[in-house]
Amino acid sequence: MSDTLEQAKNDVATLRKRLNEYNYQYYVLDDPSVPDAQYDRDMQSLIALEKQFPDLYSANSPSQKVGGAALSSFEQVTHDVPMLSLDNAFDDASLLAFEKRLKDRLKDTTTLAFSCEPKLDGLAVSILYENGELVRAATRGDGQVGENITANVRTIANVPLSLRGDNLPARVEVRGEVFMPKEGFEKLNDTQREKSAKVFANPRNAAAGSLRQLDSKITAKRPLMFYSYSLGVVEPESFDLPNTHSERLNKLASWGLPLCPDIGTAEGGTGCLDYYNLILNKRDALPYDIDGVVFKVDDISIQRTLGFVARAPRWAIAQKFPAQEEVTTLVDVEFQV
Ligand code: NAD
Repeated sequence: MSDTLEQAKNDVATLRKRLNEYNYQYYVLDDPSVPDAQYDRDMQSLIALEKQFPDLYSANSPSQKVGGAALSSFEQVTHDVPMLSLDNAFDDASLLAFEKRLKDRLKDTTTLAFSCEPKLDGLAVSILYENGELVRAATRGDGQVGENITANVRTIANVPLSLRGDNLPARVEVRGEVFMPKEGFEKLNDTQREKSAKVFANPRNAAAGSLRQLDSKITAKRPLMFYSYSLGVVEPESFDLPNTHSERLNKLASWGLPLCPDIGTAEGGTGCLDYYNLILNKRDALPYDIDGVVFKVDDISIQRTLGFVARAPRWAIAQKFPAQEEVTTLVDVEFQV
């Protein structure tokens, strides 16, 4: 921690510059320059300093921003409802502190129910259906403006081009994650090696590179998948939707949209921690890469009461797993002893 405002000013400037550069490499070039764990550490240091020295607040700080700019080679799409990021918890205590913050804010000690979802390590995508037909798909971009990747998303095998059922909203925006399952990722890298082409660093990087292709024929050959995790715009506003997030996900499934098979619900912070441990224990056996789990207050009216801060909803949090790069290092060290 910096002791003086002058020192903090310098440290904050260095961290912002560094994080802006990481973001550019990661979100715009799809070519991360540092492991996620290092990014997360620098971001936590910046957040801590900004909290300690509120005078250093800046709306342009990477701590206030979502993702990266949309590439100009794609048509740009302005999101009607911004696509935000998630706050992070890095240990059990911060998850329980999150639950306490919610209860304090709600002035209600009743146990909260949560939707629990693996945090898929891919890219957030918005898919718009009008009268049940897929009309547009976009990346998150900086949360306000993303890239139009409709042609590419259409090639993803489990994305329905038409929704099922008779009672559909006139317009509905489905949000979720496009990712590359581990098996497909290994096969893709084998093929890349055979062709002496670039090998992808990890499934997230491979998914991002595959989805942001200007030629959708290339995307079509990549083993991408999509799982839905929320709704954006729904019109008409009076359209009858269930009152909990988990039931809304089931509604999406009834329309033919794919859901992650490992989602669940939990009662209170301790229920969330049980889910975290369950998923952490089977992480390696899962067919897709995850970097944590996401907890969302299940009751939509409570979500509305809680609202949003600059870059994330107050009613949700991502509890991150120990980074795999770091786990590998730890294991190496253990073997050396
Ligand atoms: P985030 O990844 O922490 O959380 C938001 C994202 O989670 C959403 O946009 C969505 O894509 C995803 N997500 C997955 N499953 C979800 C679910 N069930 N419900 C809701 N969202 C779900 O935020 P972010 O802003 O996308 O990225 C920040 C993280 O990315 C950092 O913590 C770091 O790990 C990594 N990062 C790394 C670098 C680097 O240089 N290595 C640079 C930037 C970001």
